[in-house]
Amino acid sequence: ALKFAESLSRLGTESAFDVLARAARLSQAGIDIVNLGIGQPDFRTPEHIVEAGVRALRDGAHGYTPANGLPALREAVAADLHRRHGAEVDPGHVVIVPGGKPTMFFAMLIFGEPGAEILYPDPGFPIYGSAIRYSGATAVPYPLNAAGGMSADDVLSRLTPRTRLVVVNSPGNPTGGVTPAAEIDRLVAGLAGRPDVAILSDEIYSRMLYDGQAHVSLLNYPEIRDRLIVLDGWSKTYAMTGWRLGFGIWPAPCLEPVTRLCINDHSCVNAATQAAGIAALEGPQDAVDAMMRAFAARRRLIVDGLNAIPGLRCAEPGGAFYAFPDITGTGLSSRDCQDLLLDGAGVATVAGTSFGARGEGFLRLSYAASEGAIEDALERIARALAGRG
Ligand code: PLP
Repeated sequence: ALKFAESLSRLGTESAFDVLARAARLSQAGIDIVNLGIGQPDFRTPEHIVEAGVRALRDGAHGYTPANGLPALREAVAADLHRRHGAEVDPGHVVIVPGGKPTMFFAMLIFGEPGAEILYPDPGFPIYGSAIRYSGATAVPYPLNAAGGMSADDVLSRLTPRTRLVVVNSPGNPTGGVTPAAEIDRLVAGLAGRPDVAILSDEIYSRMLYDGQAHVSLLNYPEIRDRLIVLDGWSKTYAMTGWRLGFGIWPAPCLEPVTRLCINDHSCVNAATQAAGIAALEGPQDAVDAMMRAFAARRRLIVDGLNAIPGLRCAEPGGAFYAFPDITGTGLSSRDCQDLLLDGAGVATVAGTSFGARGEGFLRLSYAASEGAIEDALERIARALAGRG
């Protein structure tokens, strides 16, 4: 028999992809499925971005690029961060990678090893815990508050001499919660005495805030810039999940190791995708604004609709495109509720427990779907849950 590495048993997964596959199988069997499972905009990539990618392919962008990305793209990222957050970023600190995930995986591989501890949010993006455990480090979850944001005390109280890295994520997946600036201030102040602790700020939803809120980027805290990694990318903002394009802003000491990881792992992101990424950042942003207006209307629809269903209670998420209702009133576990809705009502959602132990009693619904699909899903959910009682 084949013998696998023991480390493989520590590598987890992202259940949203399992739900996606199950939903696809049901669809293929002729069952009508409404998909609120995967966190993927239902929009097409804006046309001028697609055009830039096609043009680059036609113009011969067929070879390797530098492992850390095309210089023009790294400059465009730095300029965009300055425009959006007022932050000064040296293009030399930008590392282009295939999507949002590699920055988090590489951060875990750079800092994680047996004996080290890495703090991450629960409920949170499932790959944090998976990648931490794969590195050999101990994964230490901290709870999010009722609004789905980070409370500095919950992080700081879990620091030990073995802590190497703290992961924060706002706006957050799966809750849509936004961490207020005051909590970030308190976290940064609390870490002042721990210059040996790095911070990974996952800001992939930095363009997705509602009610006129401004994103608070950790790039705006100069006192931690020498140990801050910021993750962001094109997947969510520009509806480019399948292109695989993201970036990390890394502090100086990490630049050589992360570039070495890129060289070992993927050499570089494909050149035409990088050209499309430049067009996204430098071109008109009206498509992004239009998508955000659509998400805002869908948020209203799904939050009100969920709250009208007996047994469900849904807080209003401040960002991203997820609703995270409390389902304890149904008497079902998260997993049973997910399965009942998928197999019994044809609605794909993700159990809160896919995002950590503290997700029990919750369900994640992605409202990156049309208003018609959301209305259909709400009716089906109401019927499925009523049918039980
Ligand atoms: N970080 C968070 C919090 C996410 O929700 C996601 C995607 O769902 C990612 C990172 C990864 O995005 P990508 O598809 O670009 O790898």
